[in-house]
Amino acid sequence: MGEEFPFDINPMYEGERIRKKGMYVELGGPDQPGFELVRAASMDEVEDGRFTMIGPDILDLKEGSQNTYAMMFRMAGELVETDLESVVERRMHDFQNYIQGYMHLNQRYDIWVRVSKDAVKKGLKSFEQIAKATIRLYKAELPFIEKMEATFITDPDEVKKQLDGAMEIFAQRDARTRDLHDEDVDLFYGCTLCQSFAPTNVCVVTPDRVSLCGAINWFDGRAAANVDPEGPNFAIEKGECIDEIGGEYTGVNEKTVELSGGEYDRIQLHSFFDAPHTSCGCFEVIGFYMPEVDGIGWVDRDYTEPSPNGLAFSTMAGNTGGGKQSIGFLGIGVEYFRSPKFIQKDGGWNRVVWMPSRLKERVKDGIPADISDKISTENDTKTIDELKEFLKAKDHPVVKNWIEEVEEAEEEAAAVSTAGGMGMPMQMQQFAPGQIMMPAMGGGSGGGIKIILKNAKITISEVKFEEAEGSKKKGK
Ligand code: SF4
Repeated sequence: MGEEFPFDINPMYEGERIRKKGMYVELGGPDQPGFELVRAASMDEVEDGRFTMIGPDILDLKEGSQNTYAMMFRMAGELVETDLESVVERRMHDFQNYIQGYMHLNQRYDIWVRVSKDAVKKGLKSFEQIAKATIRLYKAELPFIEKMEATFITDPDEVKKQLDGAMEIFAQRDARTRDLHDEDVDLFYGCTLCQSFAPTNVCVVTPDRVSLCGAINWFDGRAAANVDPEGPNFAIEKGECIDEIGGEYTGVNEKTVELSGGEYDRIQLHSFFDAPHTSCGCFEVIGFYMPEVDGIGWVDRDYTEPSPNGLAFSTMAGNTGGGKQSIGFLGIGVEYFRSPKFIQKDGGWNRVVWMPSRLKERVKDGIPADISDKISTENDTKTIDELKEFLKAKDHPVVKNWIEEVEEAEEEAAAVSTAGGMGMPMQMQQFAPGQIMMPAMGGGSGGGIKIILKNAKITISEVKFEEAEGSKKKGK
């Protein structure tokens, strides 16, 4: 296929990164609006291969510039139905990254594209070449698509106008699963599309858990698995329910462990801390644990300032992605905020302490009324200390945990102190998230100091005790 185009087309380019100094133009991304949309249409509405450009084409854009961008495709075929729109749209990320010199990141309204200088030098001069290559890949890989046409837009006013309509379509897609729940179905759907970037990541899409990229819900997974059984979407038998609150199932464990190459041995779909779902890197939102307040903050791609933990989205993305179970970080899709099972293993909304004001506004219909005012935003707090004061003033539910944890820790410390040094357990000590207070080793009764451990994991390979006088005893 590559011979017809002035660039190579090959899956080996999927990991290609185009840095700022090597880019000819940037489209969408953090600084400009952009979106992609695929719609189903009837056979007589689509002219196969037709391309329409609205706004300046590649060579008319200023070198080094950042631009608005929209890619709108219409597809038709006997088997094509509306349910397939999301999964076909999500494959754009896959197929366009096959194009050498063209980098595609994210999805829906978050797309971020770069065209390289080298590709332009080699002869890439029009978005029509990109659109035609994309259509060819779609038709070759997804034979149920019989006809496809594309409209690309770089005109800022037109992008803005079309984006409003696209956002309505995305919202309608998201709303479809709200009356369906995990317990109502026997099958969940998996997705391994992002294993090209994160080889151990397996997304599990359920009625109560949209994919972390936000682009695939349970209906989308079902439609894709039916029409393209060899593709990256597949059915997962739930099996026996092991933990109803955490959302752990034998069938999900078996399938995900197998497809992750044994990276982990179990997952819980609605847990933040205990065997959480893995994250590839396409998440719309990152959740991050703040041990100082025993609460969870959430930050989305649009918020580029540091969160109260001092880290920005881009920094935390490195800790969250890669297909690992990263305790303390979790990637999710925006629609998961509206799930009745939203991190229910860990307290659900009662554990949420901070989120950017725009994100909070966007999901306000999913936030329980009694907690909404107790969740801080960047307009209230910017540091952990400010957040602590805010939560105390608002009597946020996590504040109760602070008192209980300190009391428990003090009881534990008292017990250790009473038992004496020889009573210390020798096995590995793994403390729960939060703060633990204990007396300093060797501290006697009275006086002494306290050591406060925050979010600590301690491995003890050897402990030696010595009596102050006379005979010596050793313990291992
Ligand atoms: S983030 Fe998950 S659901 Fe979305 S495309 Fe990647 S693997 Fe599939």
